[in-house]
Amino acid sequence: MPLLVMKFGGTSVADLARIKNAAEKVKKEVERGYDVIVIVSAMSGKTNELVGWVEQTSPLFDAREYDAVVASGENVTAGLMALTLQEMDVPARSWQGWQVPINTTSAHSSARFMDIPRANIDAKFAEGFKVAVVAGFQGVSAEGRVTTLGRGGSDTTAVAFAAAFDAERCDIYTDVDGIYTTDPRISSKARKLEKIAFEEMLELASLGAKVLQTRSVELAMRYNVRLRVLSSFEDTDENSGTLVCAEDDIMESKVVSGVAFSRDEAKITLFTIEDRPGVASGIFGPLADAGINVDMIVQNISEKDYDEAHPGAVTDMTFSCPINQVPRAKKALEEAQAAGLVKYDELIIDEDVAKVSVVGIGMRSHAGVAAKMFKALSVDGINIKVIATSEIKISVLIDRRYMELAVQALHDAFELEKA
Ligand code: ASP
Ligand code: MG
Repeated sequence: MPLLVMKFGGTSVADLARIKNAAEKVKKEVERGYDVIVIVSAMSGKTNELVGWVEQTSPLFDAREYDAVVASGENVTAGLMALTLQEMDVPARSWQGWQVPINTTSAHSSARFMDIPRANIDAKFAEGFKVAVVAGFQGVSAEGRVTTLGRGGSDTTAVAFAAAFDAERCDIYTDVDGIYTTDPRISSKARKLEKIAFEEMLELASLGAKVLQTRSVELAMRYNVRLRVLSSFEDTDENSGTLVCAEDDIMESKVVSGVAFSRDEAKITLFTIEDRPGVASGIFGPLADAGINVDMIVQNISEKDYDEAHPGAVTDMTFSCPINQVPRAKKALEEAQAAGLVKYDELIIDEDVAKVSVVGIGMRSHAGVAAKMFKALSVDGINIKVIATSEIKISVLIDRRYMELAVQALHDAFELEKA
């Protein structure tokens, strides 16, 4: 039997009527001849409520019990989905993570998959069951405790099952009808993409297009799982939504496929640091130890390089990080200064920046993308504070108040509204 994985996110199973709507989509695929593994999230809002209860009960909670509580949201939807399917005469059985078993590491609340043995679910399919409904977001550790995968983790569960069971496709049903060239709330010209490469999706996902958990895309890329994002609130068929797939499956791609952004950035400059080996590591070592997610890094040209006579050569170092990590970053740098790991004259913190990026695999083989991007920003009078590039992405930090304007300008400049 060909097999499909269908994943329903929180809003798609928010109440009994929506569970029924989702079950009807499952039934349709069964009627088309598929065995189906359904991965469910908790009803929308449920996981937040459970996390809140844990924190109220025990602020410094035991992570094992956090997982025990928080995983329960998915158990409820899995059982209800199986019951709903049974009421529609579709033979279905629910599975909690430990029953499969979904073996994970013991890193509670951020566990990783070890393996997913197929035997138990395959045996049920062999008995005549058509659907296995699996609770997403959870697994079981070698110690036999319930684990969870981190917020948004049921996307990753879905991809892991698609890989383990050689599914024809992994369909992610959600409250949007696909992946767009940018956020339609920011540019009314945003266009739904028919296909997008894994690499591009990774850049878009980690840059703030919150549709798929980043890890799910990484996993899909590693195992070449064809992922489709589509709406559970519309009538859908084989061509609905956006297919996230390998580059080779995309015949013709534009140079730039999307404009991503992230509003909550901050820029920190260490003004006047010594210019000698070990200084960068004296800065970024303590930041790493403090768990700061450093993104862009820029070091100025050294004075030595243009002024040989200069006695005590100095430079400046600038980096960006999420705005809510600024207090921790500041503390880590001040402590590093006190410990003699780094010496700076001043710490300049700019909390009013946003990051805007253009992303596209076509950039690998096309020149002039950066020039076009900078031109578009300059025409609108937007000043660029930091630039960083990778093979398929160019990012800039700009004043946050110009973020929406920048996204629109870039969307226009690269004509992303056109297919
Ligand atoms: N229910 C979990 C969460 O809200 C997992 C998921 O839905 O992906 O993060
Ligand atoms: Mg999600």
